[in-house]
Amino acid sequence: MSRRRRIYEGKAKVLFEGPEPGTLIQYFKDDASAFNNQKKGTITGKGVLNNRISEYLMMRLEGMGIPTHFVRRLNMREQLVREVEIIPVEVVIRNVAAGSFAKRFGMAEGAALPRSICEYYYKSDELGDPLVTEEHITAFGWASPQDLDDMFNLALRINDYLSGLFLGAGIRLVDFKVEFGRLYTQDDMRIVLADEISPDNCRLWDTKTNEIMDKDRFRRDLGGVAEAYQEVARRLGILPESGPQEVPSAKMTA
Ligand code: UDP
Repeated sequence: MSRRRRIYEGKAKVLFEGPEPGTLIQYFKDDASAFNNQKKGTITGKGVLNNRISEYLMMRLEGMGIPTHFVRRLNMREQLVREVEIIPVEVVIRNVAAGSFAKRFGMAEGAALPRSICEYYYKSDELGDPLVTEEHITAFGWASPQDLDDMFNLALRINDYLSGLFLGAGIRLVDFKVEFGRLYTQDDMRIVLADEISPDNCRLWDTKTNEIMDKDRFRRDLGGVAEAYQEVARRLGILPESGPQEVPSAKMTA
């Protein structure tokens, strides 16, 4: 692990001071947690795969004009990112009923939704990430109406693009969670995609068999978690046959 100053340690990642001001190093751990930290475990190789998958997806999104905090991958478990002020709101986009949503509305998992649905959750371990409305977000000042508008529009564009990308790999993007941050430049501020996009925060089902290829395998004790993440990487064309050990660094293809 890096010798640099540790700034923050989360459940699946550690943030270190970056080499230049305004940058951070995001280190991907193999640790996994679920149900607001009540279930904990280790998925061997997960950090390496998520680092690579998130690099790939962020670069593809950048290529589509979606601003992100991603700069470049540094090694197997670390990536250089821009330092942003994280907005304490998780944005969830759902295309198919699953998980807590299916339970809340008494729907069968896998039921189609009339259209993609956007939800917001307040990032608070203490409160268990409660579902909140735009009113709560703007009234409590977690994000301004303009921030929220940007987040919503970016999340929908991310959904459109990633849905197609995954479909091309035989994977249905059922739902996912993203986080945004404020990136400050000299006299400007813009909302950018932050955190990570990986099978830790997406629901990914095989289009033919509906096999689960994401963190639900861990949450539901289905086994084969690392294998599923590896299969996602393989289908995205970013995993050499030899396995995740020798993943070459990606080049910007925008
Ligand atoms: N999600 C996440 N972090 C969270 C909660 C949810 O990344 O703290 C993701 C989750 O992987 C899924 C989507 O957001 O892809 C919707 O999750 P849901 O609200 O259904 O929660 P769950 O049923 O997983 O508790």
